Amino acid sequence: MTRIFNDPADFADEALAGFCDAHSDLVRQVEGGAVRRNRPSMPKVAVITGGGSGHYPAFAGIIGPGFADGAVVGNIFTSPSTQQAYSVAKAANSGAGVVFTYGNYAGDVLNFGMASERLNAEGIRAENVLVTDDIASAPPSELEKRRGIAGDFVVFKVMGAAAEAGQDLESVVRLGRKANDHTRTIGTAFSGCTFPGADQPLFSLPEGYMGLGLGIHGEPGLFDTELPTAVELGQELVRRVLAEAPAAASGRVAVILNGLGSTKNEELFVLWRTVAPLLREAGFTLVMPEVGELVTSLDMAGVSLTLTWLDGELEQYWTAPALTPAFRRGSVGFEVSPDGQAVDDAAFVDAVHYSSTEASRAYAGQCLRALEETSSLLRASESMLGDMDAIAGDGDHGRGMVRGSAAALEAAATAFAAGAGAGSVLIAGGDAWADKAGGTSGVLWGAGLRAFGERLGNEERPTPDVLAAAVRAFADRITGLGKADLGDKTMVDSLLPFASSLSAGVSSGSAIEEAWASAAATATDAAAATADLRPLKGRARPLAEKSIGTPDPGATSLAMVFAAVGPHFTAVPVTAAIN
Ligand code: ADP
Ligand code: MG
Repeated sequence: MTRIFNDPADFADEALAGFCDAHSDLVRQVEGGAVRRNRPSMPKVAVITGGGSGHYPAFAGIIGPGFADGAVVGNIFTSPSTQQAYSVAKAANSGAGVVFTYGNYAGDVLNFGMASERLNAEGIRAENVLVTDDIASAPPSELEKRRGIAGDFVVFKVMGAAAEAGQDLESVVRLGRKANDHTRTIGTAFSGCTFPGADQPLFSLPEGYMGLGLGIHGEPGLFDTELPTAVELGQELVRRVLAEAPAAASGRVAVILNGLGSTKNEELFVLWRTVAPLLREAGFTLVMPEVGELVTSLDMAGVSLTLTWLDGELEQYWTAPALTPAFRRGSVGFEVSPDGQAVDDAAFVDAVHYSSTEASRAYAGQCLRALEETSSLLRASESMLGDMDAIAGDGDHGRGMVRGSAAALEAAATAFAAGAGAGSVLIAGGDAWADKAGGTSGVLWGAGLRAFGERLGNEERPTPDVLAAAVRAFADRITGLGKADLGDKTMVDSLLPFASSLSAGVSSGSAIEEAWASAAATATDAAAATADLRPLKGRARPLAEKSIGTPDPGATSLAMVFAAVGPHFTAVPVTAAIN
């Protein structure tokens, strides 16, 4: 239960602002997150972590000498946007390149990946290192599909120390990937966590049971079992992690026994009494183990055990000093230098001059009404979509769609008031959606809407052919970025049927209103039919079985929105171009 908050929607922002104030000797807030208070005296690689909020001390709590240079801070359990990652990177960059490092979640992969592309295009070298330590989230044959949990901490620490020691970008990336390859975690949950303002936990377990294989977003465990004694739990965790020892295993290991939020340190120490002797009996030397809260999940009760098999260089960087708000080790010189240069917010706001025709302006008004309809529909459906996502995902789909569509509407209205045509109105809406929604669906919807707007342009009122082509551009952008195929149980399962049906209707000469309505009915059926599918992409994938019987939330919201906006996009004769 989260008890201290004002407006739940502001919780993450307020927490970040309070954190930055409390630790103003070490960090400062910038657009999108936080960076070190001081710029380094010499150019060094900037190690930037990030992800959703709700995991403190991950990710902002480990900014400081010897550790991270910055953290990109998303909304609770929600990937930060591309713009946020880009902005934090610009603030943290000191001229030797940037490396983003984060847990393997689709939204984070997309947003950090797009931010690096943007930085590289500007001549700032940027790389990405994913953490995939959770052995419960995919079998050993699919290591690259595993999600990142408490192993984040070791990987980030190694990279932060290596960058501090003056290693170049290639070396920091190589060390980060090696640390990840050598790291394995197994987690377990005893009870769920509750979003600020929510009256129900995201998931719950029967009293006296635990869920083995939890994720840090409150995803339920892979299977539930009766609560064992501390000794039995310790044996189970050790057995499972050791069974996954990497090929290059050594006799020296970094160990983290991590509490997930509301498991007390005393409980962790009781568990440690079993874990540590078992590891020593197995022949391991435990190098600077950590027992405590390092990667949490709001108020979830649970623990995870992480092992990193060390070699000489990994050990050197794991044991190196660090000075951060939440983690201190050894002694680092506390360098007091003038404040770092603040990020110039103005640099991100281009002065925009719109040019468009009367016809496109008229259609832009319809687009704006479509966005109004979308935003109010999603507001009314927020809890339904959230509940659907909580079955096998992380429960944030409703919230993300509401945030995204509200931001899109606001930006589109501003662009419209400034004279934008239809294309520019939708592009402004798409960019704002991607920036504010967070999550996988947010970045995909935002990018899709932008592609839709680009195809419409600002010249002519779209003909039915152009409208169908714009829908295809929306779909192509989403499949291009998200790489989901039909049947993977994602929004693509209602989007592609919609796009094909609309194109077919238009080419067979149906009136556009009818073609759209019939495509929307197809999409609604296709969304309902996803209930039978197993998720193959996205956050719900590790919980495939639990998802059977429930439709995909993203496919459902997409079908709803496309059905609702039809009358606005197709109203008044959408015939040949009117000049
Ligand atoms: P997150 O999964 O980051 O929590 P949301 O909960 O907002 O994001 O959205 C979840 C939806 O995103 C899923 O129901 C699915 O439809 C969609 N999705 C996830 N991954 C992909 C992908 N690779 N391509 C297309 N859609 C995806
Ligand atoms: Mg979700």
